[in-house]
Amino acid sequence: MKVVLAGYNIDADIIEDLKKRAGWEPDNVTPETLSASYARISRDPSDIGEIRKAARVETEKARKSNETIIFGLGHASVAEHAVFNFDITGISRLAVEEIQKFRLASFTEKSQRYVKLDGDFITPSELDDGEYREMMQSLIGIQNETYFSLYETLSGHLFKKFPARITTKQGKTTVEGWAKEDARYVVSLATLTQFGMTVNARTLENMLRRFKASPLSEIRELGEYIYNTVHPLSPSIIKYTEPTSYDTGREQMIRETLSKYEKKLMSPEYDQIPVKLHSVTRDADTVLCAALIYNYSGSDYASSMESAQSLSTQQKKELIKASLCSRESYDKVERAFETVEFVFELIVSATNYAQLKRHRMSSQLVQDYDTALGYTIPPSIIETGQTTLFTEIMKRSEDFYYLVEKNYPSVKNYALTNAHRRRVLMKLNARELYHFISLRDDEHAQWDIRETAKEMKRLAEKEAPLTSMMLSGKSDFHECRKKVFEE
Ligand SMILES: Cc1cc2nc3c(=O)[nH]c(=O)nc-3n(C[C@H](O)[C@H](O)[C@H](O)COP(=O)(O)OP(=O)(O)OC[C@H]3O[C@@H](n4cnc5c(N)ncnc54)[C@H](O)[C@@H]3O)c2cc1C
Repeated sequence: MKVVLAGYNIDADIIEDLKKRAGWEPDNVTPETLSASYARISRDPSDIGEIRKAARVETEKARKSNETIIFGLGHASVAEHAVFNFDITGISRLAVEEIQKFRLASFTEKSQRYVKLDGDFITPSELDDGEYREMMQSLIGIQNETYFSLYETLSGHLFKKFPARITTKQGKTTVEGWAKEDARYVVSLATLTQFGMTVNARTLENMLRRFKASPLSEIRELGEYIYNTVHPLSPSIIKYTEPTSYDTGREQMIRETLSKYEKKLMSPEYDQIPVKLHSVTRDADTVLCAALIYNYSGSDYASSMESAQSLSTQQKKELIKASLCSRESYDKVERAFETVEFVFELIVSATNYAQLKRHRMSSQLVQDYDTALGYTIPPSIIETGQTTLFTEIMKRSEDFYYLVEKNYPSVKNYALTNAHRRRVLMKLNARELYHFISLRDDEHAQWDIRETAKEMKRLAEKEAPLTSMMLSGKSDFHECRKKVFEE
């Protein structure tokens, strides 16, 4: 066996420094050479180290080879070997929602729970009417002032409520975090943030195409920045960034088709139930048992299913317990759990969605924000008698939203706040549900998403009790294990 460390991502400033120190001239400091050499592995019998060396020496040839293999032959996964890191700053939370929809990238963002906001926000360039811009700036000024006043009131209230906690520096920081996380419900989606993003060239190209077709100029501008940075460095792997007619024309076609149907189809229903479980794999517990039997017995799937169906409930329970018995809170449940699927429909605040969207192993269909769904008021705001103030800000935000909607519909959501709501259809398998509940029904989770997670857990337990027997937040893991295994 021979294992060679062929590459790793390092800070671009170090790369520039090294190039300067070495007086480096050749145009071969690019991740393209890695993609190109791995692309050649399938056809070239030479040692891979030799193939990489050739790609470094003859970079133009390597680029041609990338173009032929990735784009000519459609072997696009080769582009995944080239990875980029970006610092993205001065971007709105609304734009971040679009960017973080990409599941095959990694993100770490400034938290509005841990970092006190400084009032920075974007006024979208689409608002070319000076009066609208002034109105937006004045609205966000008021939202931000309210944020600071709510933060003071809430931290004072929480300091009094938890005197023992604030005796240590860490405890005080935690309590201040609770004040920040609730005060931020009043701030706009135009609020600026920053995040780090790591992404491979294949996903990046897809991102750039989608960014170019975005109705938000902020996203289009981001796409241009990224393209102008990455294309000169890696021209052969970031190539097709023009949106296709499929990217740009689909939505309108679907909307036109839907408009022909009965009005009832298009009229939204507002039952306001925050978490609904729409569907679960039929006979979920038996399906999981069949998957476990299949995995460990060597029987074909039809026979595994027959065996699972012949088990008593007690036997099924025993089998699933065997799979879970030595699990610790940090262990993933096994892949067989992926055979059970849940489809939830959620109504979530923007704050809640900001966290929900980070769960990349789920499929999420996200509707636009809808003021008819109302807004989420943090309990601490009610407890401290700040509801009228909070509601007043929501009303002002919505008044401006309706005004913008008439003339600049694409940017109306910048007027909304972290408290405004949308619907999300979330499909996830039992393996991802275990992970989601472990993080989000945990004592460290933010209360809003924790409420969502708790209800998802309750509904899953009702419909698939054996599959869900050890669903629990990390903080409740040992108690849950005791209950399941010592009963
Ligand atoms: C209490 C708390 C505080 C948080 N604070 C912050 C914060 O301040 N800033 C911030 O940006 N985020 C924060 N997050 C979000 C967190 O970093 C994760 O993005 C989020 O919880 C999703 O978790 P995940 O990536 O494990 O899961 P998913 O995306 O749901 O993925 C499920 C699992 O698949 C695997 N997986 C998925 N993608 C990859 C990949 N690319 N490479 C390797 N394995 C992968 C992993 O095993 C992962 O656990 C916080 C989360 C919690 C619970």
